[in-house]
Amino acid sequence: MEVGVSLDRALEIATQLTIETTSEVVPLGGAAGRILFNDLASKVDDPRFDNSAMDGWAVREADCQETGAILRIVGTSQAGSEEVPTVGEGEACSIMTGAPLPEGSDAIVMVEDSTTKNGSVAINGPARPGYIRRRGENLLEGNVALNSGDLLTPAAISLAATMGHGDVSVVRKPRIAVIGVGDELTPPGEPLSEGAIYESNTFGISSLVEKMGGFPQRFDIIRDSIDNLRDALNEASESCDAIITSGGVSMGKWDIVRRIMEEEGDVRFWRIMMRPGAPPIFGSWNGKPIFGLPGNPVSSHVVFTVLVAPWMSKSMGSDEASGPRLANRVRVLMEEPLKGAPGKLCMRRISIRQEGDVMVGSTRTHQGSGNIHSMVAHNALSLLPPDTDCDKGETIDALWLC
Ligand code: AMP
Ligand code: MG
Repeated sequence: MEVGVSLDRALEIATQLTIETTSEVVPLGGAAGRILFNDLASKVDDPRFDNSAMDGWAVREADCQETGAILRIVGTSQAGSEEVPTVGEGEACSIMTGAPLPEGSDAIVMVEDSTTKNGSVAINGPARPGYIRRRGENLLEGNVALNSGDLLTPAAISLAATMGHGDVSVVRKPRIAVIGVGDELTPPGEPLSEGAIYESNTFGISSLVEKMGGFPQRFDIIRDSIDNLRDALNEASESCDAIITSGGVSMGKWDIVRRIMEEEGDVRFWRIMMRPGAPPIFGSWNGKPIFGLPGNPVSSHVVFTVLVAPWMSKSMGSDEASGPRLANRVRVLMEEPLKGAPGKLCMRRISIRQEGDVMVGSTRTHQGSGNIHSMVAHNALSLLPPDTDCDKGETIDALWLC
């Protein structure tokens, strides 16, 4: 077990123990937000045939050198046309956007640049070969345009359809157990007894799991009892691909997640040199990866964002560039000073906004790691290296939460 690792090292250790992903085939209409399991090659050329980018006239460029040239209309090519007239010298064919280019024509005149009269058309503007969309100029049949591990964004879904795929093979959603641990925790909506608080982390963490493309399985709250926790972990390791707990990982007497992991599990690391969120523990339980996240709501959210999310991405055969992610790295000009943390990467909640050419950052609420409102009132996290404060007007790295 390594104790007190950097975030990079924590990621390195965690990604040595990933989930084994399998695939399932789903209809394209239900595949948005999923991760591709296989590369996707186009089944067709895109465009499939030379066609017009404009509503107008398919002409011979040479016939339109002079403004006002009069051409004889030979017919119409509309989208979906199977029979298209041929354009000879001195002739024009009416053409709609996306319609096949008539043989003999080599340029398009926009309808706005023409007037028609008695079966002829007067050309009052330029005839442009550039208004022709050439067969295969976007993609050729067989070209791989989407790769295994790619997130199926709305644009990717559209591209998969363009390439002719009605079904796609995607990564089966990993099932992740989410377990809240603590005597004081009460489900929201129920009456609170003295000293009790509403349990919030399993709701937040489950939403994060979903956002990352996983399938969360929220367990009932576990009291601070080693026996109950053991039963829950055993059940979770049977029914799920990985386990996330919250609470019970610090130095306290009741920090039973840490205790059970040390006594009965396989711990790979404990504590990360970051603030908030220093106490996470990681290892395996019955062979399944387990993340013991801190109980403080901000801490568990932040640790999920910077550790569990990239781990899930990697587990699903993806990465932060092409797969699901919870944050993007940006540079931010701070309009107020920020205090760093001794020996720890410091992730303060900041609010960023675009001002002209720069992203400007400020803080709004109390920063305590128990204050989940600070994660809602802000939209980013500072990335202050260990032992580094930030002065007003300094530019720092930050994670813009998505
Ligand atoms: P712990 O890590 O168990 O020492 O908890 C640290 C702090 O987080 C304490 O104030 C707990 O009451 C709080 N906490 C622990 N688990 C949760 C939870 N699931 N939802 C909300 N707060 C929690
Ligand atoms: Mg506790």
